[in-house]
Amino acid sequence: MTKAKAYAALDPHSALVPFEIERRALGPTDVQIQILYCGVCHSDLHTARNEWNNTLYPSVPGHEIVGRVVAVGEQVSRFKVGDLAGVGCMVDSCGDCPSCHDGDEQYCEHGFTGTYNGPVFGGENTYGGYSQTIVVKESFVLRIRHAETDLAGVAPLLCAGITTYSPLRHWQVGPGKKVGIVGLGGLGHMGVKIAHAMGAQVVLFTTSASKVEDGKRLGADEVCVSTDPEQMSRYTGQLDFILNTVAAPHNLDALLQLLKRDGTMTLVGAPAERHPSPDVFGLIFKRRSIAGSLIGGIRETQEMLDFCAEHGITSDIELIPMQYINTAYERMLKSDVRYRFVIDMATLN
Ligand code: NAP
Ligand code: ZN
Repeated sequence: MTKAKAYAALDPHSALVPFEIERRALGPTDVQIQILYCGVCHSDLHTARNEWNNTLYPSVPGHEIVGRVVAVGEQVSRFKVGDLAGVGCMVDSCGDCPSCHDGDEQYCEHGFTGTYNGPVFGGENTYGGYSQTIVVKESFVLRIRHAETDLAGVAPLLCAGITTYSPLRHWQVGPGKKVGIVGLGGLGHMGVKIAHAMGAQVVLFTTSASKVEDGKRLGADEVCVSTDPEQMSRYTGQLDFILNTVAAPHNLDALLQLLKRDGTMTLVGAPAERHPSPDVFGLIFKRRSIAGSLIGGIRETQEMLDFCAEHGITSDIELIPMQYINTAYERMLKSDVRYRFVIDMATLN
């Protein structure tokens, strides 16, 4: 066992506070990582505040983890002490169901083990990346090929990167496709960068007029302020695919009508309250679809990291000390993140 400093939510209503946790003793297939940086995902906030009604307390969030390997079990072959390594949203799955066999551990039929908040379907609580160190089985540890100087900006790829990459790949976004990305937050800004790198024509939909220039800088060919009906009407029936990253309930119909015939809007945002039910006529008259997508499998996460390394893609971040986390959450709720908070774990020492 190793003792580690961490930050935890102790109940849904209080600020996160310093907290000490224990990490398990290194097993033969385990890798121990000194956490250098951890991204702050909106899911951390949903969980800390029990917005999905499934939080186990104390809760140590954080599933965008990068750091350095400090110990490896005797059977570990892909990592050695000193390597850079990453951990995303999962630390285990059954390994034996059809989804796991397909490399889609996030859809494990027995429920994957989240990096924090334990197995999805109950059981032991796991503690995430707002901490000094973590022990994870080798098969759930990712290799990092970016330059070490980019490391803080790599952390958000472990959730925001894969959650946008996976649906963009699944729905075959690429040259000749016109793609809408909705919401320019942590996920959305990765969606813009990745869809652009895949060769698609990218239209960003934002509620924040102040983000228009950034949207273009990040790789959007066009930016539409979605609160302006006149701007929205220009895109009616224009898009092949929409990736919707918004973290709050909103009117889906206004976006669905932007799809071409046979177009799909995939929801990755996971608001605490439901969206208003969409109008079925907007779907059936154009054979449009609404879909959902959950993070991505381990193999695909490695593919995404390598794709981003090859294309020079990292996250645009604001590096914060651990002690700033509660302020960071408040700013995230105001859509005031440019475009991911990343915690410098050295500030926990
Ligand atoms: P974030 O950084 O807070 O970004 C969300 C963005 O949504 C905001 O920046 C804002 O962009 C837009 N937005 C916020 N409130 C809105 C409203 N009322 N109406 C319209 N747009 C609004 O959050 P994130 O970390 O990217 O996460 C986004 C969501 O994805 C969260 O619910 C999170 O839990 C979920 N998530 C899902 C998965 C998955 O596997 N499916 C994985 C990770 C996260 P603009 O200012 O541009 O409008
Ligand atoms: Zn996340």
